Amino acid sequence: MGSISRFGNMNPPEEYMARPYLMDREPFPIADHLFFVGNLWCSSHLIDTGDGLILLDTPCACGLPGLIRNIGLLGYQVRDIKYIVVSHAHTDHYGAVAALQHMSGAKTFIGKIDAKDMRHPPEYLIRMGKNFGHYNEFFIPDVELEDGDEISLGDTRIRCVVTPGHTSGVMSHFWKTRAGGKLWNVGIYGGAGFLALSRENLKKNGQPLILREEFIRSIDKVWNEKVDIMLGNHPFHNDVYQKHQRVENGEKDAFIDPEEWHRYLGGLKQEYKDFLELSPEEVAGRFGKSRLLEYYGIP
Ligand SMILES: [Zn+2]
Repeated sequence: MGSISRFGNMNPPEEYMARPYLMDREPFPIADHLFFVGNLWCSSHLIDTGDGLILLDTPCACGLPGLIRNIGLLGYQVRDIKYIVVSHAHTDHYGAVAALQHMSGAKTFIGKIDAKDMRHPPEYLIRMGKNFGHYNEFFIPDVELEDGDEISLGDTRIRCVVTPGHTSGVMSHFWKTRAGGKLWNVGIYGGAGFLALSRENLKKNGQPLILREEFIRSIDKVWNEKVDIMLGNHPFHNDVYQKHQRVENGEKDAFIDPEEWHRYLGGLKQEYKDFLELSPEEVAGRFGKSRLLEYYGIP
């Protein structure tokens, strides 16, 4: 495997965990009222609903200064965030929620199944919180979402679909957004990482083996969703920075790609199946080292 897998080991290398601000980049619009406010590691999306902001996922607590700066650079304020929606119970998606909720008074949302891990954190999540830098916190969600629930605010209605595998209760999200005078279908697949799904890892983390089968079933579950603008839980899932660069270079529709959903999910399924065939030694050899900087071409 010569090229870098977007589903491989993309955790920041040690130097970047020690100096997380190195991962900060400026925010940019994806559609008229949809913005990327994340960093090189974690995706965060901001939706201006006309009646307050929805924030989809936060970075780890160490990414909070960068997130606040990005929200400000777009001309918004943290106190305008009304809803914080978390895709799943992993630190790199909720580590800053408690702090942001304190600052904004926002209502917080997560799937009901993963909400349990917020109330009674399992050992592996406590470990993840420590590995991903200082000040990460669990949060107590205001709303626990069920499969098919909708989140409504202003002109935005987000449909939540449970797609277990990556965690037991990870959710995918679908809604409509306006760009270039048209309405487009936005989709974000929740939970594409599969490196933690080796038998050894699941056992170590006290998670059920069934997640290995659910991972495939979840891809099939959302296969027929219509998605024109695909977002990612992580920026390297949908090459969001590269698309932004293309927009800057004059290709104004770079974020609109109705084929990407199937390309992405098809690739994910294949890579996952290949992964299941690997021995623990092969997994360690192939995914032992972070490829994040290489992916961005950072020396
Ligand atoms: Zn995750």
